[in-house]
Amino acid sequence: MELTLANFVLYFVLGSFALVPIFSVISRTLHARTENRALKNRVICRLCLHAFEERSHTRIVHCPACGADNERKVRWKRG
Ligand SMILES: [Zn+2]
Repeated sequence: MELTLANFVLYFVLGSFALVPIFSVISRTLHARTENRALKNRVICRLCLHAFEERSHTRIVHCPACGADNERKVRWKRG
């Protein structure tokens, strides 16, 4: 079978359409993972409501704005 230019263009366009949902799923997965990782480290101070990131794994974290001790909340996974 001979590949004509019209067939080649047709296959190329159909292949591009097939790639769009694949890339969107990959992009969404990576975005959700990044967001979950950021939320896991986020602490909101119980006194001044200052939101900050704390990457240590200690249970008590100190607020950088007011110095209050905050207990890290345990987040349960959805699902
Ligand atoms: Zn605070």
